[in-house]
Amino acid sequence: MFELDTKKIQELKPHILSAKKIVLIGHTSPDGDAVSSVLALFLALKKITNAQVYPVLPDEIPNYVKWFDHINDLIIDSRAPELLDNADIVFCLDFNEAKRVNHLSENLLSSRAIKVLIDHHPQPENFVDYSFSYPTASSTAEIVYYFIKALDKDLLDRTIAIYLFSGILTDTGVFIHDSADSQTLAVASDLMSYGIDKGDIIKKLFNNYSENRMRLMGYLLFKKMKIYYEHEVAIITLTQGIMKRFNFKLGDHENIANLPLSIQGVEISIFVMERQDNLKVSFRSKGKYNVNLIARDYFSGGGHKNAAGGSFQGSIRKLKKYIENQVFPNLKKYLV
Ligand code: 5GP
Ligand code: MN
Repeated sequence: MFELDTKKIQELKPHILSAKKIVLIGHTSPDGDAVSSVLALFLALKKITNAQVYPVLPDEIPNYVKWFDHINDLIIDSRAPELLDNADIVFCLDFNEAKRVNHLSENLLSSRAIKVLIDHHPQPENFVDYSFSYPTASSTAEIVYYFIKALDKDLLDRTIAIYLFSGILTDTGVFIHDSADSQTLAVASDLMSYGIDKGDIIKKLFNNYSENRMRLMGYLLFKKMKIYYEHEVAIITLTQGIMKRFNFKLGDHENIANLPLSIQGVEISIFVMERQDNLKVSFRSKGKYNVNLIARDYFSGGGHKNAAGGSFQGSIRKLKKYIENQVFPNLKKYLV
């Protein structure tokens, strides 16, 4: 449960109304929550301010949100640095440290804009002027819902509701994760009152796999999952070679990290993906271990207690050795 600081919003509101340029930015490798939060706040702000409002993302969006009506309004290109430099206000959505916007972090930090953080990741870095950080919120979309209502109770509309609902669904695994509490369901219920079609949204977000994506999932589970029952850990590895074989598209790995958690005796799932210059390492926990801290301590990353990520320099073989020799002996430290 959290309560939005509405006094702080009233303080911020005159700045929003008088601004000329407002930038909204989400994190790198944007997920459903980041894209939804950026677009929902974009639509809401355009209704109350004459400012130019720019919805920006550092890099490409996943396929499963491409059906959003305003997807082509997103700015994912070389205009972004200059927009950040010249903005009066920058909203930082769904991330808690400047480096999470990748190549744009310098521009974000040096921008003269008033910086506003709306986010639910724990332990936020202090780089903003106004912080709306609520780590118990299910999603940034849930906070943005209250933020929009507090700006003006009549701003929310059906399209905004569709985006916010999508952000909540993607970040909670359709209300499964512990983070989806009674408050989240109350927000979802109110969003439904705007005439959105829940079944249609779920279908578009989740039941949209290509054949390749489905077969990739089966292949990884069958061939590429190693279980260490003595440590309650499963590791799945995805190489560039396998990606080629299954004609990998951005977002195709989404949800694979969660799958091993359905196995009895597995408490931590680790999903490893080969990238151009390093390995991306994703962590999921059933709740017994805090994987945010594991990602921070061993993989210069972070995230949430039950879902976190980071990176590793070296081969998959080296990573496995590192996990076996460095992480496993210290796992007990991360018991919740
Ligand atoms: P995913 O594994 O799905 O990419 O990310 C799971 C969670 O961990 C998300 O909340 C995401 O924001 C966070 N996360 C993923 N990678 C990183 C990273 O490299 N650094 C930090 N600080 N957080 C990350
Ligand atoms: Mn989120």
